[in-house]
Amino acid sequence: MKTKPTAADWIARDQSVVQHPGGGGGAHTLVLSHGEGARLWDVDGNSYLDAQGGAWLNKVGYGRKELAKVAAEQMERLACFSIGFDYANTPSIEFAEAMVARAPDNIKKVRFETGGGEADDHALQLARIYQAQKGHPERRKILIHRDAYHGGTAAGVALTGGKPGVAPTSPDSIVLTPPRPYHTELYDSRDMVEFCVEELRAAIAEHGAESIAAMFGEVMIGPGGMIPLPDNYWPEMTAVLKEHGILFVADEVVTGFGRAGAWFMSKEYGLSPDMIVLAKGICSGYVPMAAVMMSEDVAETVNGLGPGNSYAGHAVGAAVGLEHINIIERENLLENCVARGAQFLEELAPLKDHPFVGNIRGRGLMMGIELVSDKETRAPLIKDAPWLFADLPRYLRQAHGVLLGLRTNVILLTPPLVIDPAEVTHVCDALIKSIGQIDPQTLRLPYLAAE
Ligand code: PMP
Repeated sequence: MKTKPTAADWIARDQSVVQHPGGGGGAHTLVLSHGEGARLWDVDGNSYLDAQGGAWLNKVGYGRKELAKVAAEQMERLACFSIGFDYANTPSIEFAEAMVARAPDNIKKVRFETGGGEADDHALQLARIYQAQKGHPERRKILIHRDAYHGGTAAGVALTGGKPGVAPTSPDSIVLTPPRPYHTELYDSRDMVEFCVEELRAAIAEHGAESIAAMFGEVMIGPGGMIPLPDNYWPEMTAVLKEHGILFVADEVVTGFGRAGAWFMSKEYGLSPDMIVLAKGICSGYVPMAAVMMSEDVAETVNGLGPGNSYAGHAVGAAVGLEHINIIERENLLENCVARGAQFLEELAPLKDHPFVGNIRGRGLMMGIELVSDKETRAPLIKDAPWLFADLPRYLRQAHGVLLGLRTNVILLTPPLVIDPAEVTHVCDALIKSIGQIDPQTLRLPYLAAE
């Protein structure tokens, strides 16, 4: 009789043929089988609570039959015929209408993409095309935050610091100090917003506005630590950009479509971006969809120019995207996002006194817990204990059945918006207990066997 393969069997096969982004893929690999709501199961039948939403993208939870039905029906009718040139399909029209209706008022058009990195790359090309069309081909440079993330394309990597031997740091990028309200040491003991606005003005003066095409900015900092920003940060920064004819490209790959409790955080902050980049959350990852949304002026200026892709306006993706919006509204998931986010911050409050916890922050279900070895200097705990990067998520998973990841020095807490109050309490308990288990001397967690 043939026996069902176990996780160990799958892991062995995985190791021989699959390469995982970011490494991993060893004995601790979790081979997922299926999910429902905020819960996932592995192939051995163990269940886990997902507190990270995959790559911070799941909004409506797993196993949505409504989305599967819409996708199957659309696939039977028409899966994909690129909407380049004279072609269109009805789902992409309806999806774009629904997106524009929820976007900041000045945003009028959608270009469909398939992933965040590609959308950022295309927005970058469009920014330069826009400037050239307006008679400023010499406006090429891009303002950007240090440690920002705008995708894994060569352009994204080069603009955000480069990688030796792969993509050299772009001479076109002008790197600014990122807004990190917790790290007051970055701002010479001055008001953060005042410092950043002054630095922006100085950078424009140094390089000359006539050499700068656009600024790319995450509307709330995502991979850099899930950081909400003061209400006046972007309004003041974008006012300076506008003064100098520099476009503002709002990267809402993480914040867009509800992660922080609003459809668009740029709208919440009262901004009128020239372009908005979206990906991750616009379909909860059920299909790889992304978009660049544009103001009327940008849309008219770049119309017919710039890059495209074979999957543009993917009919299945658009149909799923539209139903995804309906689910979020039908089930009041933005309201749940705000309420559960507040619950998280309240129930995590006891961690504030822990010597390794420097900062707990968040807006909606976009939260970060920053780990420090010294509360005074805010020195990163991971520097002293790099093993915690892998061990803490493994401990949370094995001891408490909770899935969570870190990036640099921060636990990123971004569960699906369907998470319920009891599940929030379970995650908070798990975090409090797990961080409490880090030995203050050795900085090690209790030994856990390989699964
Ligand atoms: N921008 C931001 C702010 C992101 O967080 C990410 C993904 N982590 C991207 C762009 C790139 O998106 P993708 O992974 O879909 O290429």
